[in-house]
Amino acid sequence: MNPNLENKLKEELDELEKNNLLRTVDNLRFISSTKAIDNDGNEFLVFGTNNYLGLTHHPKVIEAFKEASIYGTGSTGSRLTTGASFEARELENNISEFKNTESTLIFNTGYMTNLGVIYALTQENDVIFSDQLNHASIIDGTRISKASVRIYKHKDTSDLENLIKKEIESNNESNNKTNNKSNFFIVSDGVFSMDGDIAPLPELAKIADEYNCCLIIDEAHATGVIGKNGKGTVEYYKDKTGIDLTDSIDLQIGTLSKALASEGGYVSGKQFYIDYLINKSRPFIFSTALSPSTIASANAALNLLKENSEEYLSNLNENTILMRKLLNDAGLNMVEGEIPIIPIIIGPADLANRFSKELEKEGILVSSIRPPSVPKDRSRLRLTVMATHTKEEIECTARKIIELWNVLK
Ligand SMILES: *Cc1c(COP(=O)(O)O)cnc(C)c1O
Repeated sequence: MNPNLENKLKEELDELEKNNLLRTVDNLRFISSTKAIDNDGNEFLVFGTNNYLGLTHHPKVIEAFKEASIYGTGSTGSRLTTGASFEARELENNISEFKNTESTLIFNTGYMTNLGVIYALTQENDVIFSDQLNHASIIDGTRISKASVRIYKHKDTSDLENLIKKEIESNNESNNKTNNKSNFFIVSDGVFSMDGDIAPLPELAKIADEYNCCLIIDEAHATGVIGKNGKGTVEYYKDKTGIDLTDSIDLQIGTLSKALASEGGYVSGKQFYIDYLINKSRPFIFSTALSPSTIASANAALNLLKENSEEYLSNLNENTILMRKLLNDAGLNMVEGEIPIIPIIIGPADLANRFSKELEKEGILVSSIRPPSVPKDRSRLRLTVMATHTKEEIECTARKIIELWNVLK
């Protein structure tokens, strides 16, 4: 026992509590894709999941989970040993086809994918250019990497380009001495998880091309959510501009845990990248593979998305537009956008907390997001809309949020 450590940790927890920043874990059980109960049996309508298409409760997805469970409840080892299930290879091929890429590799979570890809591909003399609002898993990947990291202002491609030029200048000076070749990487979320806005992919692709950068895009909130068939950021811009940027991106990272209704992460791109990661990426090598059931359910969700993309995406879009319109018309302080992540900026952390607690009393679950996930004084309610919400549920929820806003603001 170390009494100093105990005191220090407890003080930090007290400090968090005092500032309304203490995080705790509740119990929740989803009885459908949109409804959950707590321990006491209270029922909630949930507007805060990443389950955009509601496929966690689709009979075909559940069936696929059950069917694969006869091959064992666990995968028994790393993919490189006994964890190499048929299901994993099948899903990887399916994702490659969906994303129109050569090859795909599954990791155990999206978080581990970012860590494992960024860490494995970057070396000491390299430079990673990372968007200021990238997801924590990208930030952590750059932190454990031996490369240097340059943060560019959110979506600001002139800032990015200036940082790259500066790096090239200083490289020219030092290269004369060391002769070490340095590689550049640009990493960005496709859809940003907190503000729900979309990366300027055409400009990023142009810069990556001009300066020979490896471009990595994290599609966690984009796959199954944007693009007319839910293929993500590339498709979103193809719909808009007619230009297909698939080959401009080196690696697309994503998760199986959001629209794909399961758990796990993936990276898609050229075969040599995937071969390299299989050999060098430690989270891939040293962790037990996902169970056949987990992978089979993601694959079933992906197949449903492929078959029904128009229906799913139009439901999701209509619901998003309806919720945004109702809240916007009532004058709430929202972050503008077109995707189903709808941030309502509240300001102080305690007020955001109270807002979410009051909604809970009304039977509606919406998470409050506080620092360090968002900047100080930008605490917010972070509403996410799903394809399986009904119009009535959206209208009723918007009404309650607006009523509360008028009382609490
Ligand atoms: C959710 C998320 C992740 C992490 O994915 P998990 O599968 O939940 O670990 C990574 N990147 C982004 C942008 C995310 O939103």
